[in-house]
Amino acid sequence: MENIFFTDKVQATKKIVKSFLQKELEPIKNEINQANKIPIALIKKMGKQGLYGPLIPQKYGGTGLGYIGHCMITEEISKINVAVSVSRTPCILMGYLLNKFSNELQKEKYLKQVASGDKICSICVTEELAGSNVADIKTTAKKNGNSYILNGSKRFITNAGLSDYYFIWAISDQNANPRGGLSVFLVEKDTPGLSIENPYNLMGINGIYNGNLELKNIEVPKENLIGVEGNGFNDLMEVFNIERFTLSSECNGLALTALEESKIYAKNRVQFNKPIASFQLIKLKIAEMATKLQAARLLTYSAAKLSEMGLNVTKEASMAKAYSSKTALKITSEAVQIHGGNGYTDNYPVERYMRDAKFFMIGGGTTEIQNLIIAREELKHSLKK
Ligand SMILES: Cc1cc2nc3c(=O)[nH]c(=O)nc-3n(C[C@H](O)[C@H](O)[C@H](O)COP(=O)(O)OP(=O)(O)OC[C@H]3O[C@@H](n4cnc5c(N)ncnc54)[C@H](O)[C@@H]3O)c2cc1C
Repeated sequence: MENIFFTDKVQATKKIVKSFLQKELEPIKNEINQANKIPIALIKKMGKQGLYGPLIPQKYGGTGLGYIGHCMITEEISKINVAVSVSRTPCILMGYLLNKFSNELQKEKYLKQVASGDKICSICVTEELAGSNVADIKTTAKKNGNSYILNGSKRFITNAGLSDYYFIWAISDQNANPRGGLSVFLVEKDTPGLSIENPYNLMGINGIYNGNLELKNIEVPKENLIGVEGNGFNDLMEVFNIERFTLSSECNGLALTALEESKIYAKNRVQFNKPIASFQLIKLKIAEMATKLQAARLLTYSAAKLSEMGLNVTKEASMAKAYSSKTALKITSEAVQIHGGNGYTDNYPVERYMRDAKFFMIGGGTTEIQNLIIAREELKHSLKK
């Protein structure tokens, strides 16, 4: 399947990435889970290796590898420890945002730092009253001379407490339709008035920081407005497309490992004097897991390929996200089943994979919302005829 999508450059990069991750991530993958912390040193090493820069041009310190290469890297990290990839995702997305929408001064100032992993980013959209409905954001940005004053709160923010740069979506024009009144602001971590708390533990993806932000009269210079004022909603929709096939790649990496470990277990576990892999009901599970995973990867890489061709992938990215997340949950659940009692203990990692997989049906837009988008896009086309 990779032969369909990977150029020679992506194939060659895959070898380098795999060997880097074997050396730097594989030995500490369980420690990250147990300590519930991703070492900063790892992030810096990944940055140096170019893993934060595939969507940033070389001119600004990235590798310019492109969307397919980015999905490949995401899959490879996620095969070993998916939480490390989840923490990297906001940096990739905000690198994309800066490269696509910021002005030359901002690109010069920020992109190298993001591409190298020197500065960690958070994408701050979700609020108490604005979850699935991002158009209901209440955080405000009021113009005040040469700056904006931000007030409001954000929740469930990945990398909250770890990030250097918080990209805040706020209403800058109260009178406009919310979709035309949203703008994006870069808020640096030590800005007075910004407070961050991490008041809960997550069900899975151990190792990531996640928490809430309070913004009280935060003064942001106008130079930190990213993109055009009032264009924040449209910019976000573009970011979401990239986010969706990124999260799909995380699902697929996680599912590849769950399938691999299930095959090994099934070949080694003997019952009724035979390896359980020889029983047809177990073979059916393996066959269905492999087929669904192949379909999920095809959807994901084709969305990335279409993006690389400059096409709009709203529908394809949602299809990839909805299908890959459902598939990852199914495959990890079957992995637990194949492992029997062992699968339900923490002596084996498959129970963790199943908890990790559930995240992807919620984060980055729930499965229900992806399905609404797919149906909306499908129905648009039928109305034209
Ligand atoms: C671990 C984690 C990390 C996250 N990281 C970030 C981050 O970095 N930045 C950020 O901004 N956000 C982040 N989020 C937030 C995430 O994007 C939201 O949780 C998600 O979009 C859903 O919003 P909500 O939690 O408010 O649920 P709600 O919108 O309240 O939805 C609750 C349920 O209702 C369903 N529902 C809602 N509307 C409809 C509808 N119209 N039709 C049918 N069903 C509907 C949903 O699908 C869901 O099942 C993160 C969340 C988690 C759990």
